[in-house]
Parts: sequence; C-alpha cells; structure tokens
Amino acid sequence: MSEKRVNENRVSQQESSIPVPEPSAASEPFWAATRARELHMQRCAACARLVWYPRFACPHCGHDQLDWERLSGQGVVYAVSVHHRPALPALADKVPYAVVLVDLAEGARIMSTMFGQPPRVGDPVTVAWAPLPDGRNLPTFELS
Ligand SMILES: [Zn+2]
Repeated sequence: MSEKRVNENRVSQQESSIPVPEPSAASEPFWAATRARELHMQRCAACARLVWYPRFACPHCGHDQLDWERLSGQGVVYAVSVHHRPALPALADKVPYAVVLVDLAEGARIMSTMFGQPPRVGDPVTVAWAPLPDGRNLPTFELS
C-alpha cells in the first residue's frame, strides 16, 4: 500500500469531535467548499447526473469528466433513523439525533445528520453546518 493510499483513508478523530475523513484527491473540492459553508457536488459532463459521493468517474455512465457545482442546500427528508444511544462519544450530549436521507432539490440523495427535534419523512430541510476543528464544516440539515 502506497503512502498516498494510506493518507486517503485517514480519518480525523478526537474524543471531543465527530470523526470525519481527511480530504482525498477526489473529495478535496467538496471539503474546501465547506470552509465557506457551501454544499458542492460533482455533475457528470456526459449524462448530466449528479454524483455523490465525490469520485473520479461517473457511477451512472463511466464518464471521467465530473464538474463541481454549488447546490442550493434545500431538500426533503426521504428517510429517518432516530438514534437514542450515541454511536460515538462525541455524540453523547446530542442524543437523540437523527440520521437522515435527504433528497436534494437538484436531484441527488445524501445521507446526513439532524440534531434537535427529529424530522418526519417529507419534511423540507436546509443544509446546516457543524464546525470542525480544522476550519472545515460538516454538512448537517435542519428543518426549513
Ligand atoms: Zn455520467
């Protein structure tokens, strides 16, 4: 395994914060945009479909030109799983929280987290941001 490969799989984890992936070559533009609290996603230049998560080739058609674009951050809850026991120590003071699938207005579906009152399927939501220690922000959602 090359050193580059090891770095791409590294995960930041501190007891007090939510573990998040280190940016990889594919995901670096996504994470850079989170510093400005903007939700960016790749769109395939050939089939025009959104691609989530970040990668080097379109999972729908195999084309390798994926262009980044900013999304509205608006969506609708497709599914909800409410967690009453924290999956991680950093989430101990946040229970209950909801792991959600959100259908974004632009058409992609993204898994995320919602803190506070758990949403219901069909609720309109807006992206929110949980600050990370290194200046990035983790996209979460809140009721619109
Ligand atoms: Zn495609």
